[in-house]
Amino acid sequence: MLDKFREGLAAETHPTASVKMFATYVRQTPKGSEIGDFLALDLGGTNFRVLHIQLDGQDTKMESKIFLIPQVIMSGTGVQLFDHIADCIYKFMKENRLLDKELPLGFTFSFPCRQEGLAKAILTTWTKGFKCEGVEGNNIVELLHAAVKRRGDIKVKCVAVINDTVGALMSCAHSDRKCAVGIILGTGTNACYIENLDNVEVWNEDKNEPKTVIINTEWGAFGDDGCMDRIRTEYDRQVDKHSINPGMQKYEKMISGMYMGELVRLVLEKLRRHNLIFCGKGSEDLSTRGRFYTKYVSEIESDIDDGFKNTKQVFEELGLEHYLVEDCRIAQYVCSLVSRRAAYLAAAGTAAILHKMGRHEVTVAVDGSLYRFHPHFHDLMVEKIQALCPNTRFRLMLSHDGSGKGAAIVACCASSNT
Ligand code: ADP
Repeated sequence: MLDKFREGLAAETHPTASVKMFATYVRQTPKGSEIGDFLALDLGGTNFRVLHIQLDGQDTKMESKIFLIPQVIMSGTGVQLFDHIADCIYKFMKENRLLDKELPLGFTFSFPCRQEGLAKAILTTWTKGFKCEGVEGNNIVELLHAAVKRRGDIKVKCVAVINDTVGALMSCAHSDRKCAVGIILGTGTNACYIENLDNVEVWNEDKNEPKTVIINTEWGAFGDDGCMDRIRTEYDRQVDKHSINPGMQKYEKMISGMYMGELVRLVLEKLRRHNLIFCGKGSEDLSTRGRFYTKYVSEIESDIDDGFKNTKQVFEELGLEHYLVEDCRIAQYVCSLVSRRAAYLAAAGTAAILHKMGRHEVTVAVDGSLYRFHPHFHDLMVEKIQALCPNTRFRLMLSHDGSGKGAAIVACCASSNT
């Protein structure tokens, strides 16, 4: 991972590097005293949200609303997607009586982007199930502003684009000065950290103080050059083959919430085919791709005694009728292997970042439902990072509402600079 970080940062190897190490144009963490009124958008996974955030030092007020992005729009055209986003902004502003205001907007857009400025982000590739035509290779701020203009009845100026990792980092750093890393373990996985400009060969902008920039690693693509193929399993290859982006995001596919349940399902199905579980009798649901949710992994691993209450409930939800206590034990063991591998892989990436930064003490902001709700993910990560970084004092801190608050903080810094 450290080698891949360096390849991404070096001018010569960056164009072909698998881990892109994009400079975010966010140069420093907040002071904690930021003040102002902002809109934020959060797009990048399960939910799309519009937010109104009032920053007043350590006192933050926030209103938000979740809007659905229908499947047809997720795989439709970019124009449809951004028109839909503009509709949602209008509805939100109307409901919250904001239509007469022109608030600076921070956009948390959590897909791999090459940035050419704080408010200029070019989508390199869709991930996490999105595939809208005509967006890759384009500046998403321009697409948003064009959609806003087509409507004509809202005043919105996007002043900053960040992703959810930067949001998590910024929102934790708002209250903890030692925070210098942001990690997402949700639908996908990614990480960012504060790097010295001297190490960022691809940085062609000013090198004034502060001589740092937040790097969005896009570590989900680690392994796309084949460097992990030796440790990938037949289940990993199947998940990849049937995904919307084969050959891409191989590290992400071994770790994150969009794929973990499916990995477990594939193992259980194979055991069943070999008559090693469920007396060889499965169910339609167990044979259906995507039907074993990652939240089941958390539920099954939360059973603490031989009553297997959650496990049995999951089996029933999957229409499995023929199971023994031994099958519960096997399913729990399979879940624990898949989640432990994921946590250790994420920990290895985190350890690489801590080594790269070389600080003695670091707070790591972490967000995402997988990390938040899995019963052991945090402990497994801490255990493995400790083993890999014995000389670093670190803390994994759950980030609350990073995508909204983080976007507002960056929008605040951006609008006070202009
Ligand atoms: P996103 O990353 O899309 O912004 P989340 O952080 O909520 O949003 O992550 C959603 C992912 O988390 C989904 O892939 C889902 O499978 C997974 N997830 C949801 N609930 C749980 C849970 N209880 N345990 C583990 N994973 C979960």
